Amino acid sequence: MREDGSMRFCVLTLFPQMIEQGMGESILGNAREQGLIELQTVDIRDYTKDKHRKVDDYTYGGGAGMLMQAQPVYDAYQEATKECGKRPRTIYVTPQGRVFDQKLAVELSKEKELVFLCGHYEGVDERVLEEIVTDRISIGDYVLTGGELPALVIMDAVSRLVPGVLHNEESARTETFDNDLLEYPQYTRPECWHGKRVPQVLLSGDHRKINAWRLEEAKKHTKVQRPDLYAAYEYRQKVIRWLSRKKRQHIHMMELLKRNLGRVLAFDPKDGALLEENTGVIMLSCTSVEAGERLFAASGADFTGRLFCVCQEEIIPVLRSRCQATEARGCYQAYYTRGVPLPVSKELDIRRLDESYAEEIFAEYHELVTFEELKEHLARGDMYGAFVKKKAAGTAFHEDKAAEGENTEYELAGFIGTHSEGALGMLQVRPRFRRRGIAAALESHMINEALTREEIPFGQIFEGNEASLHLQRKLGLNVTDIILWWVW
Ligand code: SAM
Repeated sequence: MREDGSMRFCVLTLFPQMIEQGMGESILGNAREQGLIELQTVDIRDYTKDKHRKVDDYTYGGGAGMLMQAQPVYDAYQEATKECGKRPRTIYVTPQGRVFDQKLAVELSKEKELVFLCGHYEGVDERVLEEIVTDRISIGDYVLTGGELPALVIMDAVSRLVPGVLHNEESARTETFDNDLLEYPQYTRPECWHGKRVPQVLLSGDHRKINAWRLEEAKKHTKVQRPDLYAAYEYRQKVIRWLSRKKRQHIHMMELLKRNLGRVLAFDPKDGALLEENTGVIMLSCTSVEAGERLFAASGADFTGRLFCVCQEEIIPVLRSRCQATEARGCYQAYYTRGVPLPVSKELDIRRLDESYAEEIFAEYHELVTFEELKEHLARGDMYGAFVKKKAAGTAFHEDKAAEGENTEYELAGFIGTHSEGALGMLQVRPRFRRRGIAAALESHMINEALTREEIPFGQIFEGNEASLHLQRKLGLNVTDIILWWVW
């Protein structure tokens, strides 16, 4: 996504009309009209130096069919990307690539811009692929006549993850493949059709019961249709059950798996669990140092230079010697299980922040995050700000409200966010707005949002941060006395 949250696609193709048509109707057409998606099609044939506008030739070494030549593809790519600051992610759609799935769609949706190269005939000269392509992606194990349909498939799946493209953002998060399950069956009016009634529970208005029914149906359906996916779901549940035996210590790892923010790298009920958060943080809980070593070995991965969050202090020396970690910092974990929404002052305007706030926030908060990371959080919609009327600093909220007029200007008094592994954090209130309950209001707002998603809100507080520990207790969070270690 770009600064304004939109996404740009550029497609290098011999058939630009196919792409224009596929991206011109319905939800994608509307998203283009609204500027949420920008599409550029580049006709590779316009760049051939051949006087007959030929773009293909016979393959060296013989064999059936023609191959797209390097020169027109390369020149089209150079022209299309000449304004790009950094080299954009460039996808060659090919049956020989990594198979596209929802996880990859989510990953690609985080880019500002994507370039697609659509092959035709027998494909494209390997030398130009080596020079311009960053990813090779297949849409399945079958061979199509050209890359236009695969490019459209990928752009469609990515577009619906761009904020604003689907009007109900929730529907992009809660559907098939969410947590390794296919979606539950759905029904619309009439209540009875061909003698078949809509399941009674869906008419009950009881959301807990409805969600429980949907989960059971999703499990049943996945077990029959996609046993491979169901096995992955069961495995994840097994790890969550193991972690829940020490819930106070493992809430962050449980939420990571429940919210689908990471995956299991290694697990053994005797040894523990080793997880990888989607942006690369490694989380570990192990029953002994040897058990931790076994989990690292079982994962087969190299962890040098990674950021770790570990539940056992004893494992830190292993991270120092094997993964070149040099720093470690302890935190307490706080989580909210009451399930009751917290009151938030209506006088305060709390809203989602976009990337235009990056500099303002970075000026206040830069210890634990780089400017680029902060911008990513903002682009993903992870951060919220509390706004107060400009001239009102130092006055109470109800006084602000009384004086409010049409053209009242607001300023950012504080902000909060969600870290990529799901913990609440990045909470700051600007000095002159402190002692007005803004931190409590911001955190309460985030807790209430998490409750609507049926998550357990949690955060981690560095040892010695008494003000934050006090705030957590005041809001009714359970603060554990168990220390968790961030190591890097
Ligand atoms: N000779 C190629 C091979 O065996 O891998 C197949 C070429 S195919 C006939 C022509 C083009 O269609 C490819 O260059 C690619 O861009 C596109 N294509 C075909 N099947 C695809 C798939 N399953 N996924 C993505 N792209 C595909």
